[in-house]
Amino acid sequence: MFLKRLDIIGFKSFADRIGVDFVPGVTAVVGPNGSGKSNITDAIRWVLGEQSAKSLRGSKMEDIIFAGSDTRKALNFAEVILTLDNEDQGLGIDYNEVSVTRRVSRSGDSEFFINKQPCRLKDIIDLFMDSGLGREAFSIISQGKVEEILNSKAEDRRTIFEEAAGVLKYKNRKKKAEIK
Ligand code: ATP
Ligand code: MG
Repeated sequence: MFLKRLDIIGFKSFADRIGVDFVPGVTAVVGPNGSGKSNITDAIRWVLGEQSAKSLRGSKMEDIIFAGSDTRKALNFAEVILTLDNEDQGLGIDYNEVSVTRRVSRSGDSEFFINKQPCRLKDIIDLFMDSGLGREAFSIISQGKVEEILNSKAEDRRTIFEEAAGVLKYKNRKKKAEIK
């Protein structure tokens, strides 16, 4: 499974629709400070179901909608479409290509789609659970997170590695079973 394409409309600094095609291997996004590099990863985390405005570097969810500039009016909605190559069926659904879409309007209406079919946020979270990708997986490490990992105590760092290795959910299940 790999990211194939990202389409962004009205998300943060991207007023015009932009499309980024990824290929297997490494893609580097380069540009001056403030040009929107981190906004691209924010868009990926948002479409995967991120619900915390703060972790998207805003104070409320509306902050992710293009707020206007000297030359452009603000927009009323934001939409992000992430297309994944699923030929190896890594996502556990029977499609060679899977797209997830999230759309939000200034009035607060929020919509999610899997392969253009309306769905719930929970369906998107379930789809990516255990896939290594997802809003809380360590496939996306933000600038601040690197420092956090380096500065954390050994036990906390161990938790981070356990979660990345997919061990944490078994530990949590074991703990629950023991309580019963
Ligand atoms: P750096 O190299 O400093 O990390 P960067 O390329 O990662 O920079 P971003 O943080 O992705 O830059 O982009 C910041 C820019 O996005 C700022 O100019 C900010 O004004 C703009 N921006 C953020 N939210 C919105 C919004 N809702 N509407 C318009 N512009 C926005
Ligand atoms: Mg940045």
